[in-house]
Amino acid sequence: MLGAIVGDMVGSPYEFGWDAKTTDFELFSDESGFTDDTVMTLAVGQALLDVAGDATAAGAALVAAMRDFGRRYPHPKGGYGGRFAAWLQSPDPAPYGSFGNGSAMRVSAVGWLFDTLDDVERWAAITARVTHNHHEGVKGARATAAAIFLARTQGPSATAKAQLRAYLEERFEYNLSRTLDQIRPGYHHVESCQETVPEAITAYLEADGFEQTVRLAVSLGGDADTLGAIAGSIAEAAYGVPPAIRDEALRRLPGDLRAVLDRFASTVEQRTARRLWSLLAPYAQWLDSRPTTQWTGVTTTPDGVVTPAFPVYDERVRRLEEAFYTEGLMDHGYVDTLRQYAVTQPSPEVVAGADGTLLRAMCTWIWRGEHFGDGHIAEALDSGLLAGLARRARELAGADDDILGDGDSSLGDGDSSLGDGDSSLGDGDASR
Ligand SMILES: [Mg+2]
Repeated sequence: MLGAIVGDMVGSPYEFGWDAKTTDFELFSDESGFTDDTVMTLAVGQALLDVAGDATAAGAALVAAMRDFGRRYPHPKGGYGGRFAAWLQSPDPAPYGSFGNGSAMRVSAVGWLFDTLDDVERWAAITARVTHNHHEGVKGARATAAAIFLARTQGPSATAKAQLRAYLEERFEYNLSRTLDQIRPGYHHVESCQETVPEAITAYLEADGFEQTVRLAVSLGGDADTLGAIAGSIAEAAYGVPPAIRDEALRRLPGDLRAVLDRFASTVEQRTARRLWSLLAPYAQWLDSRPTTQWTGVTTTPDGVVTPAFPVYDERVRRLEEAFYTEGLMDHGYVDTLRQYAVTQPSPEVVAGADGTLLRAMCTWIWRGEHFGDGHIAEALDSGLLAGLARRARELAGADDDILGDGDSSLGDGDSSLGDGDSSLGDGDASR
């Protein structure tokens, strides 16, 4: 949600009557502030935390939270759309067939709280339908949430972006083949999903970082805060939000809205930590046996071309690495995280008292390190670092069971963190 909030604030000075259409603007100024996109994003986030995966309760909770937040903030920068403003005040709030981009700009929590693409798309539709029950309104929310989920679990590599593009084009029939340079000249202020969501996604596809995504989205002109919010929500999932940018946004957020964001962040962090523990812990025993890594021999062709040796990792190491990515466990800001914990070099000694956040950053350090030099993972196996991480994960999983053994998980069923990775948010099944 933070990415959506940042994008909203960054775009907010440029929502109306700005035709510079450039990426060269002040990221945060005195004019930057939150708009309806931020207010409704947080309302949806709170409602989803409150219902904890109970789809039967979701509609009423969403309506109540959105109206509560809307009344608390009746005049955010830029105001509310006319029909939405009427819905906020109506004695009998009913969906009104909208395909406005409001359903997409407020959906980001969904991309973080569910563990499968199916769940993400189903819940995105639930959040849309309370107001935006036109099929384009529902589709815009589903596509945005799906993009967030894919960015979160697949990362921002060229391959991952190509897959994201292909999936969204196929499933939602959006045209994602135009470049921003092709879109920009003819783009104008429009508030429909179908003319906002594909453009915002394209900004993410073309950018190579969080800030650039937001700048590119805003540079299209038009509904700049909402373009920024949608693009920013996807970019956050892939890249994280740089600390300096995060601080600028938090400074502009009132306390009660900040509290929702904090609650959401700690819930997501807790869920992420549990996924990490349940992934690592089963490997503890095997890693403790200090499995050795085979290296290929150095080869030299008859004309003297030398191919250096490289490690051939055990299938289990490969599976662990792959799951780390697909479970969305990569800490995109791991260098900063390690710095915060004053860890210059992860080692078995550092692992001893590590919490979930540090554990995750050290794991990321191991996997990312292999991209910078062959044998980085082999060293972590040999030194006992990876084994230590898995042992620590097992300890934390045990402690977690004790702390949360009463089923007091903030997201529902308090399922054992050593389970099968089943979503604790569930699928709305009545048994949950
Ligand atoms: Mg707005």
